[in-house]
Amino acid sequence: MNISFGKEYERFRDEVREFLDENLTDELRDAQRFCPGIFLDYEHNIAWHKILYKKGWVAPNWPEEFGGTGWDLMQRYIWSIEKAKAGAPDTAPMSLGMCGPMLIGCGSKAQQEQYLPRILSGEDYWCQGYSEPGSGSDLASLKLKATSDGDHYRLNGSKIWTSHAHYANKMFLLVRTNDQGKPQEGITFLLLDMATPGIRVEPILFASGTHEVNQVFFDDVRVPKANVVGEENKGWQVAKYLLEFERGGSTGNAARKVGLARLRTLAGMIPQGESTLADDTDFIRKLDETAVQLEAIQFTEFRMMAALSKGQRPGPESSVLKALSAEMQQQLTELAVEAMGQYSAVHQPEARTVGSNVSTVGPEDGVVAFSRYFNLRASSIAGGSNEVQRNIMAKLVLGL
Ligand SMILES: Cc1cc2nc3c(=O)[nH]c(=O)nc-3n(C[C@H](O)[C@H](O)[C@H](O)COP(=O)(O)OP(=O)(O)OC[C@H]3O[C@@H](n4cnc5c(N)ncnc54)[C@H](O)[C@@H]3O)c2cc1C
Repeated sequence: MNISFGKEYERFRDEVREFLDENLTDELRDAQRFCPGIFLDYEHNIAWHKILYKKGWVAPNWPEEFGGTGWDLMQRYIWSIEKAKAGAPDTAPMSLGMCGPMLIGCGSKAQQEQYLPRILSGEDYWCQGYSEPGSGSDLASLKLKATSDGDHYRLNGSKIWTSHAHYANKMFLLVRTNDQGKPQEGITFLLLDMATPGIRVEPILFASGTHEVNQVFFDDVRVPKANVVGEENKGWQVAKYLLEFERGGSTGNAARKVGLARLRTLAGMIPQGESTLADDTDFIRKLDETAVQLEAIQFTEFRMMAALSKGQRPGPESSVLKALSAEMQQQLTELAVEAMGQYSAVHQPEARTVGSNVSTVGPEDGVVAFSRYFNLRASSIAGGSNEVQRNIMAKLVLGL
């Protein structure tokens, strides 16, 4: 599809390109290119966040009155395409993509004033305390106990799979304030400071060796009741509101299209007998099928972006986007391993360190192909498994 923009949008695209040329350093590009997992490391993540903040472009999906860019749908699309083409990193989703929109939709004025500016500036880095050992898909069964103690709660229990808890200075979490009645009716949504005494963060390492997730233990952790979002025992509604943004707030399709284009280039470089992989009709058919699927997802993403640009919430349709995007991410990592063949099995972690001068054994893409393949198995689990997303689609989208 060839979209030509009007003059006004061409000017905007030029401004975006100029900004990326001037601000996206080789170091940041390399950090993204050699990122072996789901999240970019904190150091580069926050460096890019602060560059975007200085320009006023850190939160394109937020309403303008809270610090968003005020861009229309086309401008958001241009931004997502241009930054993906330039190889720019994504910002971490927990602060800008989840906590911010949740506070805008459900927080008190005081909470909005206290936290939103610090999310924009990157001063606060949030993690998400939803899952517990034994409570993942069945989230409402969560047990982390918050006992009333005057104007505070005392928290005891644990959260698991907490992404980047080892970097975060804040956590939004779900706690149990009532054991009676339906499980959903005894859950409260809380905000807490990770420096509060009694919190312990223990790493969980992935099979690829990377450290992204943790288990977090709470031993008599005192949290002010003023940190409740919404009302005590009514946190389930807030939790579900946030999940819509977690599942539907991303605009990652542009980056996947760039990844597919890179695979086509690679196919032309990888020898196969007398010719290259680009002459392998079976492999090219798989790339073409992926291209068609990505185009279909693009239109779902447009619908979501259109809703967000009008200040609406993503709705349960976000589950469609979440499940399909996870499958596409995985498909692309599978195709990368297939394309790279034996070069994807090369273990050269030192070659993917930013600024490293170690030459790679095969094509550069090989040094992250397998770790991405492994790590992105998690994308159809994190944020709610694909089976659970399909249950939501059946119930809330199709009305079955
Ligand atoms: C990389 C990664 C990062 C994560 N980051 C965070 C984070 O930052 N914060 C956080 O709170 N959580 C996080 N999670 C946790 C994630 O939300 C849970 O793993 C997820 O919700 C699934 O829960 P579970 O692991 O307990 O699996 P289970 O709920 O035990 O599910 C096991 C299997 O059973 C299937 N299943 C369960 N129930 C049903 C059903 N009703 N119908 C059909 N199939 C079903 C599931 O699809 C899955 O295949 C992360 C997970 C991963 C892998």
